Amino acid sequence: MTHIITSLCLRDGGCVEVCPVECIVPGVPQDQYPTYYIDPDTCIDCGACVPACPYNAIFPEHDVPSAYVAQGGEYLSRVGFTGRYEGVNHHGVNVVLNTVKQLDPGETVDLTLDIQANYEYFKSGPGYKANDTDEARTARGG
Ligand code: SF4
Ligand code: SF4
Repeated sequence: MTHIITSLCLRDGGCVEVCPVECIVPGVPQDQYPTYYIDPDTCIDCGACVPACPYNAIFPEHDVPSAYVAQGGEYLSRVGFTGRYEGVNHHGVNVVLNTVKQLDPGETVDLTLDIQANYEYFKSGPGYKANDTDEARTARGG
């Protein structure tokens, strides 16, 4: 089992600092991998990252909703979307995303589509090489 970061992630980075096994990394390059990702082989399912996420983007794998009902105003960040989001992460560093869509109240989204992305990021994507980026260093608190 593992926890999964879904496309509700807006790269706040807060989850990285609380993970005891350092298995959360930013997606790079951002236009191909717009969220952060959890290494399923290393995650120990401690759950510490869940309350650390201000956007409620993280779920245990078996609880990832196939019919997430939007409150309205949340952003979904996936390759192919063309909306823009500007914010700051938990260290006050600017975050700009160009692959988002803002959800309408009551809109339903299948977040299970994001499960495979977490696995693939570490199998065939950059995986822990992302730790060499400034964003990853900032997210780890230094
Ligand atoms: S805390 Fe949430 S928004 Fe921030 S990187 Fe982690 S999953 Fe993404
Ligand atoms: S559940 Fe625990 S081990 Fe898994 S990613 Fe979250 S903080 Fe890390």
